[in-house]
Amino acid sequence: AIRYALVLGIAITLVIAAGVGAVMARASLRPIDRITQTALQITRAEDLSQRLPAVETQDELSRLTDTINEMLGRLQKLFEQQQRLVADVSHELRTPLTTLRGNLDLFKRGYTSLSREDLDDMLATMEGEVTRMSRLVADLLLLSKADAGVQLDKQPVELDTVLLDVYRQALRMASGVKVSLGHEDRAVVLGDRDRLHQLLLNLADNALKYTPAGGEVRFSLYHREGWVLVSVADTGVGISKEDLPHIFERFYRADRARTSGRGGAGLGLSIAKWIAEAHGGQLTVESTPGVGSTFTLWLRPAA
Ligand code: ADP
Repeated sequence: AIRYALVLGIAITLVIAAGVGAVMARASLRPIDRITQTALQITRAEDLSQRLPAVETQDELSRLTDTINEMLGRLQKLFEQQQRLVADVSHELRTPLTTLRGNLDLFKRGYTSLSREDLDDMLATMEGEVTRMSRLVADLLLLSKADAGVQLDKQPVELDTVLLDVYRQALRMASGVKVSLGHEDRAVVLGDRDRLHQLLLNLADNALKYTPAGGEVRFSLYHREGWVLVSVADTGVGISKEDLPHIFERFYRADRARTSGRGGAGLGLSIAKWIAEAHGGQLTVESTPGVGSTFTLWLRPAA
């Protein structure tokens, strides 16, 4: 009889334990079920702005929801950036394409009646637009390489020689703006010569673009506190406080109306910044509207 009671007791305990266990398991799995449901909703609605509801109780679960929410945030940001990029690129390509089409139409309708001068004008315009589009595409390719995290091919580069090259180029590009050399130290850095040249040329190009005739653009290279500094200083229109934090963003142009037609798509500085950072350096700016701007590249000298 005792043995019977024992077996029955064990059996009852087991059943109760199993029941309680099942209830507890279900209770603890319920939040996971909720997470799954919400995740499904997000997928079905293709709505990355939704977030999982916070769970207060379990530590592991709240960490899981936080992590998933963080991931969703990141995905949403990337997705929006992608959409903005496509919109910006289309917008930038539309203007030159419209100009090209207009000119081609004119041409088709009667190039025999056009004067030699008109034809030259049209060709020059078309050439300009094609150059602009090629530059845009090249810039975009470079930025997409940057996003993919390509490594630069780094060699010792005489930065002063690169700066001198850019200075000579600026002399040729300038019309009515004085181009000068300030302090000119010598410096060797580890880097990609072509990219560094491109960076400084972008800065020079901007400085000339945004400085009215009679102004000055000055290039300098000097050492300070373990850094090599290259500065491009202009006495141009300057950049307002509101624009200053944004000028390194892709496709950002301060005062689009004023600067449209001057060529750039607003990619120059974002490329310059990427090149600086890919060299372990920085690109900084100081500017006062109406007085001028100074862009400074900070690099570590080669040991
Ligand atoms: P953009 O092709 O328009 O020159 P950038 O990326 O090179 O594009 O520059 C972004 C914006 O920063 C420019 O549209 C301009 O408003 C401002 N900017 C850049 N350099 C200068 C400068 N030296 N002086 C005044 N504004 C500048």
